[in-house]
Amino acid sequence: MGSDFSIDLNLKNLPARSSVGRVQGSPHPVEGEKPQKTLGDPLPKRADLADLPHRLRQAFSYEGILRKVERKLNALTGERYEIVPAAGDRVCIDEKGKVFVGVEFVAENVSQEALLAGVLAHEWGHFPTRSKLPRDLSHLTWEEVYRLRRGEETKADMFCGRALFMLGYPCEPMIQYLKAHEDPKNKTSKYHSVASRIKIIRATHASQSKRDAMAWNLKPSDDVYADPIHGSRIIGS
Ligand SMILES: [Zn+2]
Repeated sequence: MGSDFSIDLNLKNLPARSSVGRVQGSPHPVEGEKPQKTLGDPLPKRADLADLPHRLRQAFSYEGILRKVERKLNALTGERYEIVPAAGDRVCIDEKGKVFVGVEFVAENVSQEALLAGVLAHEWGHFPTRSKLPRDLSHLTWEEVYRLRRGEETKADMFCGRALFMLGYPCEPMIQYLKAHEDPKNKTSKYHSVASRIKIIRATHASQSKRDAMAWNLKPSDDVYADPIHGSRIIGS
């Protein structure tokens, strides 16, 4: 049941997949089978790095761009989430903090560091290891499950905007990507619209920048506070 808490980034704003909410391994509905209510889609299969072209293997290596962003996000959050190369073009995180990164997605965007950082920051922002959500959602209606899910996505986008600023990345590449992959004909109640996602990412990126600027302005000068432990004039005198 490893897929219970996987939460798909759904960068391409895809419609509800036919497999959504069904237990992994049963891609076609069996008559009488009840779809399982979960917050995420089934996890993708792992990809074998040996099968990939050099530049993709490089992206997943210790010195590669993906692992570099992984280390930054772990340093920022205190988590130890881990990137796993996966088949396909999806990016999602499981309940233990394994971040499945689709090799097709990487192939398309390997040179766009700020976009990769945004996508990964969104996944970190799900904080699955801190989740207090109930495992059993069967007592909820589908609308309630989707509402929970939209709430989770919003929190992840809020973290994404803040983290991008804190790591020194612009949020525009992520926003442009969301816009470019929006399909207005395929709206789903599982996700907020691309327009509201963009609003959230922009607003949190900007508010983090203001917060940092304020902290910088308030930073006391050394001659007032001196050494905070041994020589504080305020506490010591
Ligand atoms: Zn997500």
